[in-house]
Amino acid sequence: MTSHPGLANCHSHAFHRALRGRDVGGGTFWAWRDRMYAVAAVLDPDLLHDLAVATYAEMRLAGIGVVGEFHYLHHGPDGTAYDDPNATGEALIAAAREVGLRICLLDTCYLAAGFGVPVDGVQRRFSDGDADAWAARVHDLAARHAGADDVVVGAAIHSVRAVPPGQLATVAHALPDAPLHVHVSEQPQENADCLAATGHTPVALLADAGAWTSRTTAVHATHLSDADITTLGDATAYACFCPTTEAELADGVGPSARLRDAGARLTLGSDSNTVIDLFAEARAVEMHERLVSGSRGTWRASALTEAATRSGYASLGFAPDLADADAVTLRDSVRLAGATEPLWAATAADVEPPKNLPYEAADVAVMLRRAVGAIWERV
Ligand SMILES: [Zn+2]
Repeated sequence: MTSHPGLANCHSHAFHRALRGRDVGGGTFWAWRDRMYAVAAVLDPDLLHDLAVATYAEMRLAGIGVVGEFHYLHHGPDGTAYDDPNATGEALIAAAREVGLRICLLDTCYLAAGFGVPVDGVQRRFSDGDADAWAARVHDLAARHAGADDVVVGAAIHSVRAVPPGQLATVAHALPDAPLHVHVSEQPQENADCLAATGHTPVALLADAGAWTSRTTAVHATHLSDADITTLGDATAYACFCPTTEAELADGVGPSARLRDAGARLTLGSDSNTVIDLFAEARAVEMHERLVSGSRGTWRASALTEAATRSGYASLGFAPDLADADAVTLRDSVRLAGATEPLWAATAADVEPPKNLPYEAADVAVMLRRAVGAIWERV
């Protein structure tokens, strides 16, 4: 039995769990996104809550103590606000509390389908109309949870394609002491569109808006220029890599070592929740680097463990020491027998179920089947 600090899952979309292990066809990231939108279209606060409880319980079984939930499904099917305009955010916070998972609810601003293109279809559910209206709703949510020791409300810019350039600064400065997260350069098309519309890379455009500070996380950070890497490093920003999702969605391999060497801090996320296993995410950073570079040992286990634990907690607005308070136990499994450095071999299944989780693992599987099934019945 080995004690291990609690793991920080810094980038999650809980509802994407419904897509796991289902044939979503071939094609590009954008084809996958159409399928994901079909799921987003049928969700309501209750369906979202039930799937999130089960997904967050799976995270706790995987040794995760805190999640950063990148949340943009704010409103009803035609874009009309629910009676409580924060109903879906509250559903996610309630779900995390139900299973004893700390949560940073990253309330995400999403206003446009692309540069100069208004939201359409399911994206109307994501939009508050403009950044000021988004900020007013988020300030209300943050005030409700101010001082909570298990909830942080942070801000997020979905991407440069989803928030008009003139409104980026409003989002970046809305919660000046809270985490700020943004999807950055996940796909080459995003870079090409941004360059064509603004003459800047996404990182440079966000720099003009004052978005890069030591409380900011660049999620993915896959397709970066040399100048982008310098910008993120100089800001000592976090770079949240989600390697299992980035592989699953054919995104590419980001420059993790160059970001680190420039001064940025690595964190990790399960993103689309195609698997929930922070050991797999951490290991894949080094393995992808090996495949790209042809050499081994760019990332040491100690640095990857720091990324998966203390750095992650800090990037989500929680004290890094809470990773120790949330420590879990690794079993004496066949997989880990004889291994002196568990990170290179462990899986989520090697984590002993936390004592304070109110569900057995078998019950979580039933909850997941039921929640996923209820959603697909409506798609
Ligand atoms: Zn994401």
